[in-house]
Order: sequence, then C-alpha cells, then structure tokens
Amino acid sequence: MHKTDLDLVEMTMDVMKYTINRLSATKVKIGKPKKAEELKALVGETITKSGIGGENAFKLWKKYLAKAIVPIDHPRHLAFVPASPTRAAILFDLVTSASSIHGAYWMEGAGGIFCENEAMSWLVSLTGLPKGAFGVFTSGGTAANLSAIVTAREFWRSLSEENKVEKGLIITSSGAHSSIKAMAKVADIDILLVNTENKLEANQLEKTIKNLTAHQKKRLFAIVATGGTTNAGIIDDLDGIANICQKNKLWFHVDAAYGGGALVSDSVKHLFKGIEKADSITIDPHKWMFSPYDCGAIIYKNLELAKRAHSQEGSYLDIFNDESALGFNPSDYQIQLTRRVRGLPLWFSLATHGTNRYKQAIERGIKLAQIAGKIITDMPHVELVRPPSLSCVLYRRIGWKPKDYLDWTYNNHKKGFALVTPTKWKTGNTFETVSRFCFINPDTTKKDIKMILNSMH
Ligand SMILES: *Cc1c(COP(=O)(O)O)cnc(C)c1O
Repeated sequence: MHKTDLDLVEMTMDVMKYTINRLSATKVKIGKPKKAEELKALVGETITKSGIGGENAFKLWKKYLAKAIVPIDHPRHLAFVPASPTRAAILFDLVTSASSIHGAYWMEGAGGIFCENEAMSWLVSLTGLPKGAFGVFTSGGTAANLSAIVTAREFWRSLSEENKVEKGLIITSSGAHSSIKAMAKVADIDILLVNTENKLEANQLEKTIKNLTAHQKKRLFAIVATGGTTNAGIIDDLDGIANICQKNKLWFHVDAAYGGGALVSDSVKHLFKGIEKADSITIDPHKWMFSPYDCGAIIYKNLELAKRAHSQEGSYLDIFNDESALGFNPSDYQIQLTRRVRGLPLWFSLATHGTNRYKQAIERGIKLAQIAGKIITDMPHVELVRPPSLSCVLYRRIGWKPKDYLDWTYNNHKKGFALVTPTKWKTGNTFETVSRFCFINPDTTKKDIKMILNSMH
C-alpha cells in the first residue's frame, strides 16, 4: 500500500489532536462494554474491498468504539491491577510505532535496544542481584514467568540424563498468580500448591518438601515465590525461601509482576529482603511502573542459562549469532522472536522524569492504601479484612452478601462513576466475597476513596 493512500498530514493532525485531548483530559468517562452485535449495529461494515476511509473509520472509533472501553488509568478505576502510564511514556509509545523498530536483534534494533537496556539496568539495580544479572522486556508477567520456568527447567534437565526424561515439578502457594499455574501447563510441568493465600513461610515450604515422595523430590526443580500477591499485596518470606532453595539446589523464581514497583520505595523495600538471591525475577512495568501496555520484564541472575533455553536457530538467523561483535539480542532470552521495543517508552519516561519521581509516585500508591485503611476503620458500615499491604486493600461492607457486592459494582460502572470489583478472601477453608482496592494512579484522591465508600451505604 502506498503511503499516499492516506492524506498523511490531515490524518496525522487528527490523531495528534485525539492524543493531546486524551492526554490532557482530566475527566475521562469510565466506558462500558457493549455486546459485539450492538457494536456491529452501530458501526456497520468497516472492512470492505475499497475501504471506508481513514476519516470515517476514525470517526466511528471516536463516536462508538472508544466509548466501549474502560480507561484503565481512571483515578476511580481501582479494580484488578490498574495502570497509569505517564504522558512521556505514552508519547514515546507513538514514537516506537512510528520508528518501525524490529526489537529482536541488535543488528536491526540497536538504538532502541540500547534504550531498553538502560531502563533494564535500572530495574536490575533495584533487585540487588549480583553483577552479571540482566533481563529483557516481555509482553507481560505471563510471558516473563513462562520464560523463567522454561529456563529453569532446561537448566535442570542439563544436570543429568535422568532429569531429561522426567516431568519437572515446581512448588508455589495458592496465593500465586493464575499465570504460574497456566504456564506450568504450557511447559508441561507439574505444580504443587502450598495452601495459603497469606505469606508463604519458609517452614511451610520446608514441610511441604519434606513430605514429598522420593520420586517427587527427584522431579522438583524450582520454587516460585510471590513479591506482592495480586489479590492482597502479600510478599512471601523471600529470604527464608531463598535459603531453602540454596540448600536443596532449587531454582528460585520471584514473581513480582505487580509488587516489583515497590522495590523503588524506601518505605516497604525491606519486605523484599531475599529477592537479591533469586535466579529469576518477573516485574511488570505496565503495572506499577507507569508504562503503557504491554511491558513486562524478566530478569535472570545468570543470563547465559536463559540463552541456552531460548535462543532460536535457523539458517536465516545465522547472521545475528555473532552477538559479541554486535550487541545484545533480546530474542535470545525469552519466548518471543519478533518483538516491539516495548521498553522504549519506559526509557523515555525515566529519562524525562528521573527515578525520584518514580519513587514519589509509587510511595503515593502505598500511602493511598494506608489512607483508605484509615477511612475504612473510621466508617461504621465497612471494615478491613486485613491490614493494607503494598497498595492493596481488602475490606468488607458489613452485612453484605456476594450479590450485593456485584450489584454495587455494576451500578457504579453503569453510572460511569467507578470500577471497583469484588474478590474472594480465604480464611481457613471458607471463601468470603469482599471488596478490594488496588492503587496505582497517583492522581486518585482521598475524596475519590470516600465517595466510593459512601456509595456502599
Ligand atoms: C498481573 C500478574 C501476572 C501476569 O502478568 P500479565 O502482565 O498480565 O501477563 C503475573 N503475576 C502476578 C503476581 C501478577 O500480578
């Protein structure tokens, strides 16, 4: 297709105008999904033989489709793990697209990969891993966890002929993220869950390992700890677990996809003690490091092991192999070949603002959780389920049944007021439906929190 098929200047202005409006808007509405049939009825056929024209397609986007979206950076979007990409990062996401960078190999993507690596060096420095540790940006925590699990498994298999024919086994807690279970399935690995949504303690893990059958013990190759559970912000006993891994020669992976941002903070960083002993660490900059989707990261203590697991071979790729002569090839260290330089927006944002601003913004999220905890304690109709942890707050509306929480969520969403969804909290063997805040956006205010809690009356 020729570039002149589009009125380039006019379309560029339109897109820039849209972007500027979106970036400077202080009151974005929380949109709602519509059924696919409803959207189809609104926009009609958009993919036709001769095209409907950029102006027309863009109009449909603005008028209908963009409104069927929940802007994840809305200050009263406190469900799941929200996001709040910086303007600098968003602008450089546009630059990343416009620059047509192939991010797999240094030979083609050197300038972009250099920037990614500058940002990565900073991420690695937060973990305290020894010299030589490094990582790559992935599509997210799921891909990062998979890349780490496969690296660990391939390393374990390389240790003996026996291991090569065994199905591997990993241990994590039931509080670990769903992607750990899903990716163990992808890698065809058995997974054993220590039954706790609370902090996974070293003695629990020790007991679990002791109770394994001899065959299970032989197959066990890795422990996955969580550095900030997605549901409640709980950090496992990383130091104790690291020591058990060292003693038993097990791979130690820390999933800090959500919580990793807190490594920047002064106030809670100590809770991550032991992370510096990890073999691999997942951190999602698209969660608590203000990057646009999608941007995850996997960091390895020994990068060479990742290369052994992930480097792709093919005669058409031979030219890229001479890394020593050229530079760092991100495709060698995770599951993806062709990739966007998705760390580039993070680099620009870090370069623009400096890391102190990141520290302030992340401390604000932690502070907001503390503020919410205090307000909840002071209000008679709600109570804390457990103390706030990182930027997560679990609380209950006294007297409410699961359906009340759901109705309240849908009602607030319908009004475009807030998106706060229920979750479950397990005490003993019973699951209770409760409400949950997760703070990421530093622009969320005390007033926002109060308004949301007041809507539970
Ligand atoms: C969100 C999350 C993941 C998955 O990350 P994606 O970027 O959604 O793939 C994994 N682990 C934890 C702890 C998470 O919070």
